[in-house]
Amino acid sequence: MRRAIFPGSFDPLTNGHLDIIRRSAPLFDEMIVAILNNADKAPMFSVEERSEMIAAVLPSVETGNCEMSVESFSGLTADFAREKKATAIVRGIRAVSDYEYELRMALMNRRLEPTIETVFLMAGEEYSYVSSTLMKQVFELGGRVNGLIPELVEERMRKKSSRAK
Ligand code: ADP
Repeated sequence: MRRAIFPGSFDPLTNGHLDIIRRSAPLFDEMIVAILNNADKAPMFSVEERSEMIAAVLPSVETGNCEMSVESFSGLTADFAREKKATAIVRGIRAVSDYEYELRMALMNRRLEPTIETVFLMAGEEYSYVSSTLMKQVFELGGRVNGLIPELVEERMRKKSSRAK
C-alpha cells in the first residue's frame, strides 16, 4: 500500500495544486490532501472551509485508482505522515525560489522521519506562477483569476469579499 500525503495551506486551493494532485495520484494507492492548521497565519478561509472546498472539487480531478481524502493537521508534517503510515510527502516546485525552502523542509523532515521520502513534482508551466497568495491579492484588487483557481473557489472568494465590504 503506497500512501502519500500532500500537505499545504491551500488558502485557497488553486489549479496549480490540482495539477500536482492529478499528476502525482497515479504514483500512489492513497493520497491524503493534508491542510496545515497554522496558528501563525491569518487565513482567508478557515480550515473547515478549505477542507469543504477541496472535498467538493476533488471528484472533478482525474486521479485514476488513487483513493483520495482530505484531512487537516497541526504540528509537524513528519509526525502527521508517520501517524497516517504514509511513505511519501508530495510537494510541488514552481521556481528556484521554492527550491531552497523545499530543500530545507525535505531535509528536516527526513531527519525527523527517515523512512518517509519527499517527492517533488515540477509545476505545470501554465501554473508555475500561480500561488494562493497571488490569487488572493489579484482577486482583492479586482483582477481576473478565472482559469487559475477552481470556479467553486472563485465563487467562495467573491462571497467572502462581498460580505467583508
Ligand atoms: P505551503 O504554505 O505549505 O507552501 P501551499 O498551499 O502554498 O502550502 O502549497 C502546497 C504545496 O503545493 C507546496 O509544495 C507548493 O510548492 C505547491 N504548489 C503551490 N502552488 C503550486 C503551483 N501553482 N504549481 C505547483 N505546485 C504548487
